Amino acid sequence: MTDRVYNFSAGPAVLPLPVLEKAQSELTCLPGAGASVLEISHRSKTYIEISEQAEATVKALLGAGDDYRVLFLQGGARLQFGMIPLNFLVGAAAPADYIVTGSWGKKAVEEARLVGDVRVAWDGKADNYDRAPKASTLGLNDEAPYVYITSNETIEGVQFPADPNTGAAPLVCDASSDIFCRPTPIEKYGLLFACAQKNAGPAGVTIVVIRKELIEKSNEKIPSYLQYKPHADNDSMYNTPPCFGVYMVGLVAKWLCDDIGGLAEMEKINRRKSQMLYDVIDAHDDFYKGHALPSCRSLMNVTFRLPSEELEAKFLAEAKTRKLTELKGHRSVGGMRASIYNAMPEAGVKTLAEFMKDFASKNG
Ligand SMILES: *Cc1c(COP(=O)(O)O)cnc(C)c1O
Repeated sequence: MTDRVYNFSAGPAVLPLPVLEKAQSELTCLPGAGASVLEISHRSKTYIEISEQAEATVKALLGAGDDYRVLFLQGGARLQFGMIPLNFLVGAAAPADYIVTGSWGKKAVEEARLVGDVRVAWDGKADNYDRAPKASTLGLNDEAPYVYITSNETIEGVQFPADPNTGAAPLVCDASSDIFCRPTPIEKYGLLFACAQKNAGPAGVTIVVIRKELIEKSNEKIPSYLQYKPHADNDSMYNTPPCFGVYMVGLVAKWLCDDIGGLAEMEKINRRKSQMLYDVIDAHDDFYKGHALPSCRSLMNVTFRLPSEELEAKFLAEAKTRKLTELKGHRSVGGMRASIYNAMPEAGVKTLAEFMKDFASKNG
């Protein structure tokens, strides 16, 4: 265990140690099943219970009522970029509205354009994706089949400070890197999805929280795997699901409920953690340059630059000697990125903050 580093990877990313230990303890034999979750049928009573429990715990965490389903799908967040327009844009009377606050939103637009008409209602490109829009600047179309946002842009470290009000059209959200980081007023959303490997589990499973009314609007003229309805009708067992991933998402959700005490508690911890790093950035603003505007700084991905690429290379090398790893920013924006998802311990963030102070005073 002492070999574990503080892993700031953007994804796949750190998982809660108690969750890993629980999975380890059950890996060769699930209680009562006589075999591992990797070895049992998805039609078995044991797996059906795992899946139902995972759905119930995710719904409880998000406060989702009977008008929502939680689906566990495959294909990552990327497949949702295509499934959403295939189901809701094909044949629509108006274009879909997309709000683009960074790299992932841009990719979602490209995918949707392969399917139908898209209107980019707001784009942060002119400011190099350092902010989210103010609600008053959004001229959204109530007739749009949906309005699309990315609640947290993982690469730029830009997060909507609060869940936006977007009018009459169903709100669709890519929450891949900030699901479960704070309470979500889920009733604002028609569909909210997240690949698991940032904040909710291992790669290979995607969580889709969808209002039942939208499930009924699934496009039935596309291949069935791409429709939402068969997945809902079959309780996420339309075909063989990613059983281990769903099991892990269930454990992470249970950890959030039982060990952390729910999403309001998680938010407090996340605010403390991110503030530690932003405080260092602000206190040394002649050395560290934060990317996002303070009002839109992410609780999950803290992005900043140093005065030169040489210093950035030195920073990464010295960080590693303190067991602080994976701090390099995404190749498209450069600089540093500390991904401090729910599972990153406060001690890890504290160690990084101290290192950053030290590094700035020695090299500034
Ligand atoms: C990582 C990420 C994706 C891509 O996820 P895949 O599972 O690799 O398809 C999409 N959107 C956001 C916001 C992400 O952070």
